[in-house]
Amino acid sequence: MYLEEDLIPISALQHVLFCERQYALIHLEQAWEENRFTAEGRVLHERVDDEHHESRRLLKTEYGLAVRSLHHGLVGKADVVEFEKDPSGGYTEIKPVEFKRGRNKEDDFDRVQLCALALCLEEMFDMKVNRGEFYYLQEHRRTSVILDSELRDNTTSLIIRIREINNSGKTSSAQYNRRKCDRCSLIEICMPRVIESGGKNVSRYIKNQIRAAIAEGEG
Ligand code: SF4
Repeated sequence: MYLEEDLIPISALQHVLFCERQYALIHLEQAWEENRFTAEGRVLHERVDDEHHESRRLLKTEYGLAVRSLHHGLVGKADVVEFEKDPSGGYTEIKPVEFKRGRNKEDDFDRVQLCALALCLEEMFDMKVNRGEFYYLQEHRRTSVILDSELRDNTTSLIIRIREINNSGKTSSAQYNRRKCDRCSLIEICMPRVIESGGKNVSRYIKNQIRAAIAEGEG
């Protein structure tokens, strides 16, 4: 069992899966830059994070529910959790529902977050959580995700990897990957193309930055 001060924020799972250097920059070095993608996600979550609940016959819906697991060492907040009840008031199903901007994606970034929320809910309510759902804003519909053993193993492997990085205290070196880096909010801090070149491009990089600043001033 982990102590409160050792809990990992659930959002960190997406960071480490996206890029271990990004994880370390944010969580070890406290670097954070907002870009269009993170801003849209933040605004969306601010809209649904307001903690309250609604009850309708056999369905209770919690919004902005704080969750944690001392067994897995996780802490976070669920956009929505639906509790289906039987007439005696017991729960028949607990299901996290996360709101996402954009469309359903093939990668695991969102699914590991959903699974981590489920692991917390299982511990809090002593009940298996078999599935969760996403509501993708661009598609205006829900997508169901089965929380199978493969997804659970991937999620717990990421938790272990985060603890390894935390214990090492080291930020890994940058490796430029166009698909990731060009949409990364930390690209200006990370400077992957400069670091990857072993610093050989530093002077060219600085010259380009100065030229861009002068051009902006003239414009
Ligand atoms: S810019 Fe690229 S290498 Fe640097 S943190 Fe972002 S994704 Fe990782």
